[in-house]
Amino acid sequence: MSKSREDYMKVIFEFGGQAERVGNKAISEALNISAASVTEMISKLQDEGWVTYIPYQGVQLTEEGTKMGASLVRRHRIWEMFLYEKLGYNWDQVHEEAEQLEHAGSELFVDSLDAFLGNPTYCPHGGAIPNKDGEAAPEATTPLADLAVGDKFKIKRVTDDRDLLTYLDKLEIKLDKKYTVEEIENFDNSYTIARKGETVVLNPKATVNVFVEKD
Ligand SMILES: [Zn+2]
Repeated sequence: MSKSREDYMKVIFEFGGQAERVGNKAISEALNISAASVTEMISKLQDEGWVTYIPYQGVQLTEEGTKMGASLVRRHRIWEMFLYEKLGYNWDQVHEEAEQLEHAGSELFVDSLDAFLGNPTYCPHGGAIPNKDGEAAPEATTPLADLAVGDKFKIKRVTDDRDLLTYLDKLEIKLDKKYTVEEIENFDNSYTIARKGETVVLNPKATVNVFVEKD
């Protein structure tokens, strides 16, 4: 499979394309590719049996496509863990490097790397790493923006977007720490969250891309 096809398959899988239809617009935005090119590639992927496409409803992975998507996401996230855990990369640095590395190495190599890392369940951003059979642990899906004042929570996953990750880093936001929603600003829906007496304000663009588990 070509590198550009792999990028499509991975994005469709990440948007839940094994279970529901993913719109062309979401794919075009995620890959930063024109809508016309997305339509063209999707019809190729459909001809090859990876996806089914219904105009105005979007694209869904076939069984073969789901296996392929899971294996691509698996590769990407295992590389991320390697960079993060073994090479000391920051979580905002791993994505771009993993984008290149995921296209390299045999299945055996990726499985060996997985074992070397101790078969991690989640990537540094809280995304689930599918196992060899394509099964993955559940991922947090509740955005911080859904919580109310007084709610206690842990951040379990963040969208893998470099600017967002850098922003969260500046605020010293980390996965798996306990926070409380202290205030929600009426004007722009920004969230003030507190941890051990210290507060941080998260802007509304971040609160829809930070996923939590309520306490
Ligand atoms: Zn990740």
